[in-house]
Amino acid sequence: MEDLQVLKGQEIAYFSMEIGLTNEIPTYAGGLGVLAGDTIRSSADLKLPLVAVTLISKKGYFRQEITDDGRQIECPQEWDPSKFMELLPVEVTVQIQNRNVKIKAWLYKVQSITGGVIPVLFLDTDVEENTPEDREITFFLYGGDERYRLKQEIVLGIGGVRILGALGLQIRKYHMNEGHSSLLTLELLHRPGMDIDKVRELCIFTTHTPVEAGHDRFSYDVVKELMEETADLEVLRRFGGQEKLNMTLFALNSSNYINGVAKKHRDISREMFPGYEIHAITNGIHSYTWTCESFRKIYDKYLPGWANEPNLLVRVDGIPDEDIWEAHREAKTVLIDYVNKATNIGMDYDTLTLGFARRVTGYKRPDLLFSDLEKLKKVNRKGKIQVIFAGKAHPKDESGKKLIEQIFGYIKKLKDEIKIAYLEDYDMNLAIKLVSGVDVWLNTPSRPMEASGTSGMKAAHNGVINFSVLDGWWIEGWIEGVTGWAIGTHPDEHASMEESHIRELDDLYNKLEYIIIPMFYQRRDEWIRMMENSMGKIAYYFNSHRMMHRYVTEAYL
Ligand SMILES: *Cc1c(COP(=O)(O)O)cnc(C)c1O
Repeated sequence: MEDLQVLKGQEIAYFSMEIGLTNEIPTYAGGLGVLAGDTIRSSADLKLPLVAVTLISKKGYFRQEITDDGRQIECPQEWDPSKFMELLPVEVTVQIQNRNVKIKAWLYKVQSITGGVIPVLFLDTDVEENTPEDREITFFLYGGDERYRLKQEIVLGIGGVRILGALGLQIRKYHMNEGHSSLLTLELLHRPGMDIDKVRELCIFTTHTPVEAGHDRFSYDVVKELMEETADLEVLRRFGGQEKLNMTLFALNSSNYINGVAKKHRDISREMFPGYEIHAITNGIHSYTWTCESFRKIYDKYLPGWANEPNLLVRVDGIPDEDIWEAHREAKTVLIDYVNKATNIGMDYDTLTLGFARRVTGYKRPDLLFSDLEKLKKVNRKGKIQVIFAGKAHPKDESGKKLIEQIFGYIKKLKDEIKIAYLEDYDMNLAIKLVSGVDVWLNTPSRPMEASGTSGMKAAHNGVINFSVLDGWWIEGWIEGVTGWAIGTHPDEHASMEESHIRELDDLYNKLEYIIIPMFYQRRDEWIRMMENSMGKIAYYFNSHRMMHRYVTEAYL
């Protein structure tokens, strides 16, 4: 079969529970999946011998609708794989409980204009011979209970390795993007002549979660029920934890190269898991994908070759200011028109516009801007602002959903003074509009919960200026008043929780009132200099081409 040709010679297997390839393939929930997509896109540009493995998630994540009073409604998002990819003539089985569960694989090809192609294998258990329950294993991304999740991880990790074997691939390295796929190491361990040291030689693990509670854990009752037939529980206990099977711990113990996704996140991970050698490869984004039309045009004109060599953005100073401002105006017009069509709120093109969009969950604090409404009104009297929000809360995250309702409440309260919109159904298409169309990109996570964050890097590629809490990647990207502005103290400053919070609110309102608003309205040339710095000092570095160069030279080779 001609199609199998693209699989030939691929020797690095990249496993991820979610992947954001295009907006039409809804198998991603947020940053982790979009990062996986960007990893694959850069690998295609750079012609790396990589093959990706994920689940088909046939019923997607969910499409978000929001009622007038801010209640999130989760709509099904079923999609048809056969429109985008091809079913491969292979099939493997894994044992779950005492049943053989059959797994098929779909092949999707990510094509780069450089001629590079990365095959992505989507595993699917919706096979006639499987029981109705087993057919559903690959339906819902992050759906179901603990038992459902473990079944998915068996299919992804164990099933994934078997599919690669059935396709005849000689895999030299297995890269686990987060711990969901760490059962792949168990499968490798079962191969003849293998031991844990040999498995470790083959495995790379990227951790993404800076808090204990965020790691995937399974009770041994569930593990026993689903895996007793096949897995040596003693082995799982030894490498994955005595009390519960901790997938992060299991991956840590079976990988030779381990990394966090920003320098700060490396430090936090070292504290959380003492005794492991943990590196830092700071995340990046795929420059071409996350640059809007109007900026692609000026980059093409002044920095030809930038898309496959984003370091060229360091030479952004050579682009005339008028061209930069015009490209920004174009992107802003696209966004404001979209907002006005979606909400009839009547935003305008000249007002300083702030954007905030990401997964809605407690630690991201989308409501921080509303901590002091009187101050916010005072800021707005100094110079008009308008704010655009978007984001989905996980269906089971009740407090996340409550946050959306609260923001809707604030929008109502402020509606006579400040125009604020909350857009439905945040996805990759909406993300590019937002990160290119606002003037300032706001991020206010509670430290140290933002392992990296990537949307601010997308903003920087489009000359949008970051205004953020110093956490994750921003600690590395931030130069005060040059590349953007910080909210709150530097992590090296010692301040109590209370002091930190006071500083955050002070910075949030005061920098808006006394620095950002005056510069935007009165000193356009300084503003454009900062836009250039976003591109020339942030985008040139925080891209997935640089990230993949590092994975290749430090982990894959
Ligand atoms: C980039 C992106 C994210 C990640 O944003 P963060 O600010 O890093 O949390 C989430 N969802 C979508 C759709 C994205 O494009």
